[in-house]
Amino acid sequence: MLARQPQADKRSCPQRSSTSVPPVQISKSIHDELLVHAREEAPNECCGLIGGADGVARTVYRARNAEASPLRYNLDPQDQFRIMTEMEERGEELSAIYHSHTASPAYPSQTDINLAAYPDALYLIVSLADGERPLRGRPRRRLRAGATG
Ligand SMILES: [Zn+2]
Repeated sequence: MLARQPQADKRSCPQRSSTSVPPVQISKSIHDELLVHAREEAPNECCGLIGGADGVARTVYRARNAEASPLRYNLDPQDQFRIMTEMEERGEELSAIYHSHTASPAYPSQTDINLAAYPDALYLIVSLADGERPLRGRPRRRLRAGATG
């Protein structure tokens, strides 16, 4: 799994704007939860939200993919509303929005970029295309997602 910002191409500018996405720490257990969700939903893409606090991801909230498609996702609006309410009740903030790629690498598609409605949120992609090693080349225990774009 690679964490990528939709606007990664603009990061050649060294200035940090106030809207830049802060790094979010994703633990191994959170990562495993995402992977399980991706596998259960395959061949369709799964999607959901991650709530957290102080830059640490805490809770995975599964959402329905309204598209029910292997090629794209669309967070069910009712699920999204329910989850955002639940997050607020728990004192969490929206740390990340995730979805899976079942047959392609963990790079955002043009559709993903176009659909990235929350500029301040981190967009995570869980790829099943790398088999059992979606974290290849990254520390397995802790990802510092979003730090490298
Ligand atoms: Zn995608």
